[in-house]
Amino acid sequence: MSKLSGITPSGHVHLGNHLGAVRRWALDGGADDLYFVADLHGMTTPHNPARLRSLASEQLAVLIAAGIDPERVFVQSDLARELGALIWVLECTCNYGEAARMIQFKEKSAARSASVEGGGGGMDGKSKGQAGVRLSLLTYPALMAADILLQGAGEVPVGEDQRQHVELTRTLAKRFNSTYGEVFTVPEAVLPPAGARVKDLTDPTRKMSKSTRDAAGVVFVLDEPDQVRRKIRRAVTDGGSVPVHAPDTRPGMANLLEILAACRGGSPSDLAEEFSSYGAVKDAVADAVIEELQPLRERALTLLDDVAELERVRKAGAERARERGSHRLDAALRMIGAN
Ligand code: AMP
Repeated sequence: MSKLSGITPSGHVHLGNHLGAVRRWALDGGADDLYFVADLHGMTTPHNPARLRSLASEQLAVLIAAGIDPERVFVQSDLARELGALIWVLECTCNYGEAARMIQFKEKSAARSASVEGGGGGMDGKSKGQAGVRLSLLTYPALMAADILLQGAGEVPVGEDQRQHVELTRTLAKRFNSTYGEVFTVPEAVLPPAGARVKDLTDPTRKMSKSTRDAAGVVFVLDEPDQVRRKIRRAVTDGGSVPVHAPDTRPGMANLLEILAACRGGSPSDLAEEFSSYGAVKDAVADAVIEELQPLRERALTLLDDVAELERVRKAGAERARERGSHRLDAALRMIGAN
């Protein structure tokens, strides 16, 4: 059963992405699994085109540097034409109400509304804010459905926040198949295997995230080793002095011990016993993270320097992804009455 997973280039790839997802994709990925850089998904809220383009290249380089077979990696926008056509088919299969009740749309559009102050022109702040929300935020689930259905993925490993979108994909696939004819594999949302959940180093109650404004708490996989060490040394820890693994009361120290365990193996509580001071834990975490990231960083930077090679790999990946999906797209267009 082929699995499909994506990573959005909304920021630089960080240690959480690596330990929680990318490393596992490289180690455990099945021969039919697919990984993609979801750059089209990065356009549903205000974005900078040049930055998006450069982050997409960086992510592609990191995925390949991590050891994922380049045959199984592609950049989403390289399939923009195929996906664009399929999105239309799926939007013609989806009801407005189904898209509008997606929790993520409601939350993100509400957040955007809240950021628009005051009323004026007969519109209050809320409706004015919603009017300024990109339509693509509403239709985003159709793009996600197109990603999945074009490739015929059988399983989609997702967290809670994306489950509803996979449910909608299932509904659309079934509806299309029963209305127009069997074209699409109906995918299952599966839970990704439990992996490390890395927290922000300056606020260990939050998960490490690409879109966090203050980069002090986020270790990027392409950070220089000195930078990595500095960020880890400055990690916020709690009042204690003897290291123990107590996520509820000592979240900062727990995060460091969990990162150490993810890099070195072993359990965070056992590792805690090796150290008598917070400083010693931080030094060990910095050493382990630098060692963990070093080969990945070197390979990714080499690839990013070799523009021709990165372009070659990218084109080949896109070509294969296109080939894999073209018969489904052709059949869907034919059956819905397009050609
Ligand atoms: P995203 O950064 O949301 O595009 O996620 C890409 C992948 O990285 C997903 O599989 C996430 O579950 C994983 N991921 C993102 N942030 C973290 C984190 N702080 N710790 C562990 N895994 C993460």
